[in-house]
Formats: sequence, C-alpha cells, structure tokens
Amino acid sequence: MRKTAVIIGAGPGGGAAAIRLLQRGVRDVVLVDKDRFPREKTCGSALSPNGLKMVQALGIGAEVKRLGYVIRSLKIKTPGNREMHLTTDQAAVVLLRKHFDNLLVEQACTLGADFRPGFKATELIREGSRVVGVRSKDEEVRADYVLCADGAHSIFSWDERPKRTISTLMGWWEDFAFEPGTMEMVFDKHLSPLYGWMFPESAERVNIGICMDGEEGGPGARKKTTRNVRDVFDSFLHDHYRDRLRGARQIGKFKGHPISYTTWIKDCTGDGVLYLGEGARITHNATGEGIYQAMQSGVYAADAIADVVGGTASEHKAWRRYLWQNRQRFTFGFAMGHVLRTALKTPLFDAIAVGYNSPTIRRLATWAVGSALAGSHVELAQQPAGGFAEAGPALAETFPHAAANY
Ligand SMILES: Cc1cc2nc3c(=O)[nH]c(=O)nc-3n(C[C@H](O)[C@H](O)[C@H](O)COP(=O)(O)OP(=O)(O)OC[C@H]3O[C@@H](n4cnc5c(N)ncnc54)[C@H](O)[C@@H]3O)c2cc1C
Repeated sequence: MRKTAVIIGAGPGGGAAAIRLLQRGVRDVVLVDKDRFPREKTCGSALSPNGLKMVQALGIGAEVKRLGYVIRSLKIKTPGNREMHLTTDQAAVVLLRKHFDNLLVEQACTLGADFRPGFKATELIREGSRVVGVRSKDEEVRADYVLCADGAHSIFSWDERPKRTISTLMGWWEDFAFEPGTMEMVFDKHLSPLYGWMFPESAERVNIGICMDGEEGGPGARKKTTRNVRDVFDSFLHDHYRDRLRGARQIGKFKGHPISYTTWIKDCTGDGVLYLGEGARITHNATGEGIYQAMQSGVYAADAIADVVGGTASEHKAWRRYLWQNRQRFTFGFAMGHVLRTALKTPLFDAIAVGYNSPTIRRLATWAVGSALAGSHVELAQQPAGGFAEAGPALAETFPHAAANY
C-alpha cells in the first residue's frame, strides 16, 4: 500500500519530522532506520535552550527533563587560559542520545507512526524525475513524499559541493570531579578555532571530547587534515584534565564521528523529496551543534508536507517555503559562527575574559558570547548574586528531578 510519507533515519531530524506530521493530522507515516532502538550515537548529547523549546512542542519535554541532566552555567576557557563563567536562566540539558532519540521514536509510535528498525535504505525509488519511495536490500516502501534524514554520512545527499567537516573524538568517565550543573568549553589553541568540552551527563558521569577542523587550507586548496585526532585528544586531556582524570574511571572506548556543516544551505528539495538535518549539512560551524537544527528542519519539512496534503499549498510553494524557512532560521547564526571562528584566532576572546570582572562587560560578554554559541539571540537572566547555588529554587520549579542534583 502506498504511504503518505516515508522518513529515512530516526535521529532527531527524522524523529521530529514524524511527530510533527502526525501532530498535523497526516496519516500513514513510515519511519525507517538501519539500527534497532535504543541505539548509541556518538554525541555530546547537549540540548540547547532552543532544542528544549522544540522538545516541548514535540510533546516529550517532561520526559527529557526527567531523564536529563540540567545545565545552568557554562565555564569557558580562552586560548590564553583565562576563564569566564556564564550563567543564564535558559537551561540546557544533557541527555544521552540513546535515550533521547528513543524518546522521539516512542512519541512518534504513540502518535501512530509505523516504525521499521533494521531497514537499511540503499536506494531511492524514482518514477521519472520524481522520488516515490525507498528500498532496502529486501523491502521497499512507496510513498507520496520522502524525507531524507540519514545524517552526516547521508548516501542520499544531493549536495555535490565538497564536504566541510568537523573532526571529533570523545570519551566517557565516571567519578570525574565537576561543578554541579556546569558544562565546560575549552578553546585550546591547538583546536582553534574549535574547542574541547566536558559535559556532565549525570551526577556521576561526564563526557569529554574535542572538535577540530576536518580540512586544512583555504578555499580551492582545501584537503583533509593530516593531524592525528587521537594525538590531539591525548594532549588535550593531558593539558586540561590530567589532575581531574586521575581518580576517574573511563567507560567504554573513545569514539569519533565527523560533523558535516555548511554556511549557505543548498536547495534541499526535489521532486517528491525533502532533505533535512545533518544530511542537509544543517549544523552550526563554530559549535558543532546539530540536534536542535535537525529537529527544527524536520518540523519545517513536516509542515511543508502537511500543507500540501491539507490542500493549503502546492508542492512547489511548500518546498520554496521550506527552503526559505531553513535559510531564514539558520543562515545568520551560521554566518555569526564564522565571525566567532575568526575572533577566536585573535586575542579578542582573551580581552573579553580580562574585562569580565566589570558587571557591564560581564553582561555584554554573556550576551555576545552566549548568542554566538547558541547561534541565536540569548536573553539574559538576572545573575544570581550568590552564583549558581542561588539559582536553585527557580530551577527546582522548572526541573524538580534535576534540581535535586544541586
Ligand atoms: C562527537 C559529537 C558530539 C556532538 N555533540 C553535540 C551536542 O552536544 N549537541 C548537539 O546539538 N549536537 C551535537 N553533535 C551533532 C549531532 O550529533 C548531529 O548533528 C545530529 O545527530 C544530527 O541529527 P540528524 O537527525 O540529522 O542525524 P543523525 O542523528 O545522524 O541520525 C541519522 C539516522 O539515520 C540513520 N541512517 C543512516 N543511514 C541510513 C540508511 N541508509 N538507512 C536507514 N537509516 C539510516 C542512522 O542510523 C541514524 O539513526 C555532535 C556530533 C558529534 C559527532
């Protein structure tokens, strides 16, 4: 039987698209993934304030807050080894992707999605120029609309431009000492213009990783970096976390995965098909953030299909709007990401850190750095006079489970 929509990939992009389609009343939605869920995904697993607003709209906000670890402040170490401590009232949450992606899939299934794990898509089915379904080795699904949400290694990506990537490597530790509710970003000069991080996943467990440019050389001469990511990670751990790692226990192995990004989102539409998330290179070039971007583009894609199915727009009009929405939502933030990358190669970040003791500069820096990292405008909280501990009561109202950690 022909379905209304088939989505390839049940990461945040595909999961969000499925939920939104069903929320909009579209029926016969199939979600396929090569893996069986819950499955691991190499990721820092941090959901930004924008990501949290999105999960609320998708109906899994309460579960994410119940299972996740709430972050209320960010410690930044500059290339010159100066520190800034940013606190806002817009919480972030770290929730292991194994659990987070599974929540999205469960929500999609509850709303009526037909989820098919173990379906490794190998080919798009075409009738003339139109995409009309997807095939695996031993199964096929035909549908009016196909959404490609198959991530960084997308085999269906239509974007022929050379890939721009961020190389990453990360690991997990227990019994690592950290300030409750605080994540760390270390702008080490060897990773410039990118950074290393420490994200707490629970009161007992953290993940630590690095990201660095996957290519070297200017436009036209760009080639894959020859630097050994493992060596860079070893030096990073030694330089920044040697003492704190002494009593810690590593869980599992180091894992790496590229992040694919772009500044100008290419036309991510085709006859009968939409591309979204990291498969469409929609990630932030300065932070590597991609969970929120995948969910947002998934929601836009679902809205485009729901408009066509509901008869309020032609496919042509809905697809144009889909592309425009993505560009309008992300291009400014991605351009600002490049500004941040450039600034990080100058002493500017260190200068901001030096002035950080002045309340005015502190407010301005919190806004500017926070907005650049979030890829959008950050609203400032009144800084609790006594620091993070005094943010507890307000936090307890919003996140009762996680506030118990403080
Ligand atoms: C080390 C690291 C740390 C990161 N940390 C963060 C972070 O803290 N916060 C953040 O916001 N972002 C982070 N990111 C980026 C984020 O992980 C991705 O941008 C995000 O997962 C993209 O979502 P997606 O749905 O587009 O793709 P994915 O999450 O990659 O999902 C794609 C899905 O498609 C499936 N699939 C692939 N091929 C096929 C096929 N042929 N057939 C069927 N199914 C298929 C896969 O199994 C997968 O489930 C990090 C990335 C890395 C590598």
